[in-house]
Amino acid sequence: MESSSEVLGPFTEIVRLSWTILADNIPTDLRWDRLLITLFLALALYVLSRGRGAKDADGRGHQSDGLLEFLLPRDIYAHISARVDVWLWVLERCLRPFWAVTLFATVGPATEQFMIAAMEGLFGATPVLQSNFGWMLLYSLVLLLCYDFVFFWIHYAMHKVPALWAIHKVHHSAEVLTPLTRYREHVIAGPIWAAGSAFSFGFAAGVFSWLFGGGITQATLFNVGFFSFLFGVTGAFRHYHIQFRYPRWLEYWLQSPAMHHTHHSYLPQHWDTNMAAITSIFDRMFGTLYIPEKDEYTPWGIGPERQDEYRTFWQNVAAPFRDWGKMLDSKISGKQSSNSAKESS
Ligand SMILES: [Zn+2]
Ligand SMILES: [Zn+2]
Repeated sequence: MESSSEVLGPFTEIVRLSWTILADNIPTDLRWDRLLITLFLALALYVLSRGRGAKDADGRGHQSDGLLEFLLPRDIYAHISARVDVWLWVLERCLRPFWAVTLFATVGPATEQFMIAAMEGLFGATPVLQSNFGWMLLYSLVLLLCYDFVFFWIHYAMHKVPALWAIHKVHHSAEVLTPLTRYREHVIAGPIWAAGSAFSFGFAAGVFSWLFGGGITQATLFNVGFFSFLFGVTGAFRHYHIQFRYPRWLEYWLQSPAMHHTHHSYLPQHWDTNMAAITSIFDRMFGTLYIPEKDEYTPWGIGPERQDEYRTFWQNVAAPFRDWGKMLDSKISGKQSSNSAKESS
């Protein structure tokens, strides 16, 4: 007979399960090792720049008064925008388990199977190549490039298609940048990004599974894809107020975190630039690369005319629905006015 303590009611089961899924979805760069790397890089920048590498809440480079002011400046972390970041993140993380797992479990394998079938259709049966470390490295590089390519195009569409820009504006309404701004997205954006990543990984995995008859895994570094780890360590820095730049020649190949400062600026010369996540290759190819100067002024946010519509948590949650309503209204009234013009002519 089972002891009574092992019998779980359905509610307890649900709560336990959702807690496990929630824990699985805590972003990896909030792990202590990643935070330590971020802190170490920030300290190195403090020493190298002699306290001059940080930007203030207005996006201007300045001389910091001390280490704490350099790492955690009051004007940024006490800003209402930083507080809204936290609440948007909490909401996104609570809802994420409902779609993240489903999308990864459906879009990823479906794309992979489709690619294997497509390769067989085009080139015949798998050549069953033998994998070695070189191939594994190549595989992790291709996975990363596929991800970057898909990320670039989703991001590009989010900037250029008005109905999608209504969603992505929430990310750009951040008036200050903190590492949490990375996750400042409208809840609707999450499934789009997740489907995109699942598709890109499924695509590369399908091609390599065909080449190696299924026998390939990527080269890893600390349990993460080799290149994903190498290039992703600076991920948290993309939304940090400290300017982390690479030598100019390298910025033509890789997005330095400082290049994302311009992506968040509302100055016209910075609009729609630096769309990719990791490399500069696709921005260069499609004409959206912008390499900023040292201490380049990058006022963050959606711009003074509309910023008041994106100050609070609820404004940000409601914003896309409000924008879509307006779009629908103007479509309907546009149709009506063209109909009445036809009738009167
Ligand atoms: Zn953007
Ligand atoms: Zn961003």
